[in-house]
Amino acid sequence: MSAGSAVWRPRSARARGGGWRRLAGVTLLASQGPLAVAGTADSPVPDWKELKGQHFIVQHQADAAYAGEVARRAEQDYDRIARALGITRHGGFWLWDNRARISVYATREAYLAAARAPDWSGGVAQYTTRTILTFQGSDAFLNSILPHEITHLVFREFIGFRQDIPLWLDEGVAQWMDASNRGRVVAIAKQRKVEGQLAPVSALTAAAMGRGVDARDAVAFYAQSASLVGFMLAAHGVAKFREFCGHLRDQHTLEDALRFTYPNTLRSVEALDRAWNAYLEAKPHEQQAGRIYTH
Ligand SMILES: [Zn+2]
Repeated sequence: MSAGSAVWRPRSARARGGGWRRLAGVTLLASQGPLAVAGTADSPVPDWKELKGQHFIVQHQADAAYAGEVARRAEQDYDRIARALGITRHGGFWLWDNRARISVYATREAYLAAARAPDWSGGVAQYTTRTILTFQGSDAFLNSILPHEITHLVFREFIGFRQDIPLWLDEGVAQWMDASNRGRVVAIAKQRKVEGQLAPVSALTAAAMGRGVDARDAVAFYAQSASLVGFMLAAHGVAKFREFCGHLRDQHTLEDALRFTYPNTLRSVEALDRAWNAYLEAKPHEQQAGRIYTH
């Protein structure tokens, strides 16, 4: 695949069949190029074997050991992500019959055909059916795409399916929860700050990228978005962040959500911008980059 050919759309789009599809999922793994995946999916193929975990059912066509590893990592990521975002499940919504599904196809080709995904795709999350599709043997999936897509599912269940929440929030949260790339993300944002290239929050909020977007621009967007979310979580805590997201869920604008949640600190997009820039300036890079390896 060519990273430069990656398709990246800013919002969820209606998939064929009326479901939601996600065209996103970034990985910063050098071996794969900056962008991985996504696509859309229809219903799972019948006669699959199933592994049932607490929150996920992993369907697989071939290697049970790989499926077992997917199931183990999914439960581990789910617990970590839900805790990190302060979004815990109530009423057992993701338990038993309502568990999310991960379908692991035997081959890349079978996955691509089923997901109708572009050939650089490694995984996709479908919100309304709480399903993640992938294929056996994708290392980028286990390390990067799985936590990214689980975050999308968890976050969307909390915030709902409105289309106008800031893209930097949606992708920034998902990218930040991909702990394997967090050090790289922080380094990119820090570097852009040093070079005077850090995007203003207003520009991130207005960002809309589509087919043919330059891969470096997309990676820069993901990295800065993740850095911004990471700053909000670090500076003001997860409870406030959850409250902020709750205001967006309740249809308030970004400016209002900021003012309601952070009246004395991040009370506007401009104030958020200033505080984020100051944070990047003050925070020693070594300390930030090192922190990710403790996860
Ligand atoms: Zn994403």
